Amino acid sequence: QARLQGGNNVQFYRQLLPNQPEQRQNLEDSLKHAVDNGDLTINYQPKLNLATGLIDSVEALVRWHHPEQGPIAPEDFLPLAEETGLINRISDQVLQRACRDAANWRNQGLGDISVSVNLSGQQVFRDDLYDRVAGALEHSGLPAEYLELEVTESVLMEDAAHAQDFLNQLRSLGVQLALDDFGTGYSSLSYLKRLPIDTLKIDRSFLREVNDGGASQVIEAIMAMAESLKMSVVAEGVETREQLGYLKKRGCDYAQGFLISRPLPAHEILPLIRHSNLRLFGEAQPDQLH
Ligand code: C2E
Ligand code: MG
Ligand code: MG
Ligand code: MG
Repeated sequence: QARLQGGNNVQFYRQLLPNQPEQRQNLEDSLKHAVDNGDLTINYQPKLNLATGLIDSVEALVRWHHPEQGPIAPEDFLPLAEETGLINRISDQVLQRACRDAANWRNQGLGDISVSVNLSGQQVFRDDLYDRVAGALEHSGLPAEYLELEVTESVLMEDAAHAQDFLNQLRSLGVQLALDDFGTGYSSLSYLKRLPIDTLKIDRSFLREVNDGGASQVIEAIMAMAESLKMSVVAEGVETREQLGYLKKRGCDYAQGFLISRPLPAHEILPLIRHSNLRLFGEAQPDQLH
């Protein structure tokens, strides 16, 4: 049986799944079981503020450790969760826990740490999303401005006419909004201008061009666009010092990626932030943070 994680296996699994109703049912059952038991966890990946050299925000990423099959990537179980409707409970759990964790970090004197939560396609267009977000903020006590919601460009394009209304509603809560995997869709400047978006997250595929001292025209175009729209820019998937150096030089606002840190469990995030923010961030040090 294929292991349901990583690399080429992912492809194998994705092709195999529709032809194997029994396997699929098993996976669905165990996912439901995990959700019922609160077994899903969250890892947090830091974002490095390139202007200050401090880590002042993290992204919440859901994790599922299957009792027999081991870790299963979100990209493998989230589609199943979307099809079966489990996504709503998963999202609630992630949203609530992320807000609670972020509120705790603030209480532990770490300063202003923001947390980002990813929204799936189904959620963005649900009428009760506003109430769910408001509820999570209220229960945790996290001030709204320290919660950021990430939506992918492709999700918005599915219903571009309504996206604006939904985002405006969310924005009225005081949360921040980010466009995830930016650059892979087709939003025009004039469309973007109408959206209440605070941040563009450059898709990590564009970072690959930057490796041997090269520049990326796509990244520079996105940064120019963000500047004229007064949005900030996060570069995702930063894996090398060359990439980090390039982003700093070009005035990118944030870097996120394995070079700075892999996504970590909540209890490891606190010491990492404390440690990295206490020292002066030199040119050559981010990769020693692991
Ligand atoms: P995303 O929101 O774009 O998250 C970034 C993904 O890139 C994460 O994968 C992260 O682990 C990975 N990543 C970060 N830095 C690097 C790097 O330097 N190199 C490489 N190769 N990868 C890096 P992950 O955790 O597997 O999540 C994949 C996607 O699943 C996310 O993409 C997001 O769309 C979705 N997702 C994850 N957690 C949640 C969640 O709680 N709710 C929803 N709705 N979607 C989620
Ligand atoms: Mg994201
Ligand atoms: Mg992304
Ligand atoms: Mg703003």
